[in-house]
Amino acid sequence: MTQKSLFDDADTPALTAVRIHPDFTSWQQRARQLLLDEVPPQRVWWQADETQSRAIATAGNANIRVPKPFLTQARAASCHRNGDRWALLYHLLWRMTHGEHHLMALSSDPLVVQLHYYAKAVSRDVHKMKAFVRFRAVDGADGDPRYIAWFEPDHYIVEYAAPFFQRRFANMCWSILTPDCCAHWEGRGEVWFSAGADKAAAPGDDLVEETWRCYYRSIFNPARVKIQAMLSEMPQKYWKNLPEARLIPELVRESGNRVDTMTNEVKTAEQLRCGPRPAAPEQTLNDAIQHSEPGSIQQLALAAQKCRNCPLWQPATQTVFGAGPVPAPIMLIGEQPGDQEDLTGKPFVGPAGALLNHALTAAGLRRDELYITNTVKHFKFRARGKRRLHERPREEEIQACAPWLAAEIDQVQPDIIVCLGATAAQAQLGQGMQVTRDRGKVITRQGRHYLITVHPAYLLRNGESPHDLERFVADLQVAARHLQLLRSP
Ligand code: SF4
Repeated sequence: MTQKSLFDDADTPALTAVRIHPDFTSWQQRARQLLLDEVPPQRVWWQADETQSRAIATAGNANIRVPKPFLTQARAASCHRNGDRWALLYHLLWRMTHGEHHLMALSSDPLVVQLHYYAKAVSRDVHKMKAFVRFRAVDGADGDPRYIAWFEPDHYIVEYAAPFFQRRFANMCWSILTPDCCAHWEGRGEVWFSAGADKAAAPGDDLVEETWRCYYRSIFNPARVKIQAMLSEMPQKYWKNLPEARLIPELVRESGNRVDTMTNEVKTAEQLRCGPRPAAPEQTLNDAIQHSEPGSIQQLALAAQKCRNCPLWQPATQTVFGAGPVPAPIMLIGEQPGDQEDLTGKPFVGPAGALLNHALTAAGLRRDELYITNTVKHFKFRARGKRRLHERPREEEIQACAPWLAAEIDQVQPDIIVCLGATAAQAQLGQGMQVTRDRGKVITRQGRHYLITVHPAYLLRNGESPHDLERFVADLQVAARHLQLLRSP
């Protein structure tokens, strides 16, 4: 929104036309020279060609000694769309260097108020860009996927926000297209920028769209529908570019019925505490593993039903063994079964499993061609009322269950193992593994190939990091590509 300038002075003609690139660094350089020449702000006419590219604002310029809060706010305000921002900044700078060093402390000063207003508007716009950029996968020139997003910012924030996307999507090649400017990252080097684009240049729906909708449906809590709060956090103007937005009317409409269903869905004591128990184990864990023959994964699964090798069997309903073809090219390992897996006896059938299915499809993989299992085969939880809340297994429980997993790997003989989350990664590759640091790259140990990524349940819990969904799909694509490499002659 264009604001009326607070410092137009009709009586004082602007005598000096100052042309700058439309970025903070360029303004800093010219402002410093104007200060040295003692040119008052009333005599400066700032001209910036907004079609030119903007340099990414860097750390403060030591040659202009101003309070740090001014530099921080000025850097943000310099991205505001209103053309009078350069004059505003120079007015403030002039006053701070001419006897009003503490000007920024005068929160009622009209120019300080305007600076805050501009900086806040830009900061809000950057926040929305971080939240609402949605990448679509297309085939890149080198055959690898490239992720392209379309976004329409209110202000000139692409260069300002680019470092966030560079850090967050370091392993992906991506482009963010906007009407003003486009940012591109090739997975290394520097982010580069090009002129603004038309929306038609952005790709339409892709397979990740469906993953988004699955994710949004899973995290949507019908008991907490607050329309006004939702509209404030996700303004309708962004909806047209959000794949999940088309679900909102339907989810809101259904929320009443879903709350009723949830309230009436009381699990029986049998389900919650102790499903049918197998008889006392006829074979010990070691017997079962030692006697299993290649191709006898069913035999292992049956033996595991009777396992009492750690206390986790007691409160759980049943052992949840892995599932999938044997052998299989890719084996996915999670942490442990969840509530629904415990009740059905199958791995990854709850909301996290649904999200995983969509992400696999988006990555070009088929779940029915993969073997999926968990590090620990019994559900560990603590009861809260009628709910059973997940608890992370302890190291001794992971160790107790390790022979089952090792026997599965022996049988499945995967070309690549995908570790979903820290528990699986550390159980396979050692305690030093960190998902945030080591994800998305192939790690080879003793001739076996591993790839680490997040657990889909993490994505469902961590609703504030929507971009993790795209990274999750990208990580799975790394596994798919590596498999192709391994199989190419
Ligand atoms: S968690 Fe593993 S080791 Fe413990 S009882 Fe279950 S199957 Fe056995």
